[in-house]
Amino acid sequence: MSQLNLFKKKLSGSHLNIIVSVESAVKISDISVYLVGGTVRDILLDRSPSDLDFLIEGNIDLQYFANLIGGTLLQESRFGTFKIDFNGEIVDFAFSRQEIYPSPGQLPVVKKGTFKEDLYRRDFTINSIAIAIGEDGEFSKIIDPFGGQNDVLEKRIKVLHDKSFQDDPTRILRLFRYSGRLCFDIENSTRNILIRDLHMLDVISSDRLTNELYLILNEESASRAFIQYANHDDKMHLFDGAKIELSNFLKMDHQEVQSSKFSQELKFSILALSIPIEMLDTWVKKFNFNSDFLQILDGVFEINNIRGDLLKTNMNNSDLFALMNKINENVLRACLIIEEFSDLKEFIFLYLNKLKNLSVQLSGKDLIKLGITEGPKIGQILHELHVAKLNEMIFSLDDEKEFVQKINKNNS
Ligand code: ATP
Repeated sequence: MSQLNLFKKKLSGSHLNIIVSVESAVKISDISVYLVGGTVRDILLDRSPSDLDFLIEGNIDLQYFANLIGGTLLQESRFGTFKIDFNGEIVDFAFSRQEIYPSPGQLPVVKKGTFKEDLYRRDFTINSIAIAIGEDGEFSKIIDPFGGQNDVLEKRIKVLHDKSFQDDPTRILRLFRYSGRLCFDIENSTRNILIRDLHMLDVISSDRLTNELYLILNEESASRAFIQYANHDDKMHLFDGAKIELSNFLKMDHQEVQSSKFSQELKFSILALSIPIEMLDTWVKKFNFNSDFLQILDGVFEINNIRGDLLKTNMNNSDLFALMNKINENVLRACLIIEEFSDLKEFIFLYLNKLKNLSVQLSGKDLIKLGITEGPKIGQILHELHVAKLNEMIFSLDDEKEFVQKINKNNS
């Protein structure tokens, strides 16, 4: 086995089979195929890549190609990329292309290009390395025009040219995302142009900006990415100048955040709770948040509004329930994580760990059986039961029945 093929040890059996299938199509057609991007970077880092990214040079009908390699063609984009399903494994393919940037921050004009031109349009040297697929799926050659292998070895992120961030300022956020994920440093000349071009973050469209923010929030290492970012951008362009305590970013590493299936939402809630409340409106305009994230921002406003109410001494459990029940739960959980000891924290704790789970055992049907006439009265009594239960006036099923019978008697 050649030195290069030792890298294949990092690939799973199914990935190796896919590579052999792809090579069989190369053999009988006029195309060349390469592994590129994150796949190659991860292999060089001695990690198993989570997915395969193929680059195709040449022309081939997509449906014919999918048939040749035994997969199902899924979707095709106008940028010459497409996906193929191999027995449930979705693999990304792209025709090699070049990109021309009409003006900073805008989407590029995309044209067909050679695979070398495709490597040149990429963001960082560590993502601009290709492995050519040869006979029987062997790794035949590594193509590394920008010294990416060395940068992987030296653990540093470097752009390919000094207009890179001006061409596409989303790369600024990609840089922090990778540096957080891989624990890589920012190469010196890249750092200089980064600082020069940070203001370009202001020209990214809100869709693209929001997407990059989601991608960072999706990373386990989001806190590192944000801290790196904050350490470089003292004007905090991404957050419209809002200063955020670095210690708040670190709260994103909390075990409860990392292990939650709502990890992304919790991190966003931590972020939203960390910025001055008067900036939330600006945020809503700057980004294009989806409805879940807008609900989180509503929840942050709501928490801010109820702080005063919570100090009222005559607040009982059902009042607390009514206040908390309308707030997005991720915001409440994030509050528990970032708040120091406070009344708010205690109230949220009581709500989440007790009140939220207290439900009435009797159903509407049970009430009818107990002699309540069908209609709006049923909902009203169920609500009264719930209030009584929250306020610890009733506990058991028998208490509930007795409570209903009393109401029934009073009404008759
Ligand atoms: P990973 O995040 O692990 O690199 P990925 O496949 O999720 O893998 P993508 O964001 O899909 O990463 O990008 C795939 C490749 O496309 C990258 O490795 C990079 O070379 C290139 N790329 C993506 N976005 C840009 C960009 N804005 N500018 C230049 N190149 C980009």
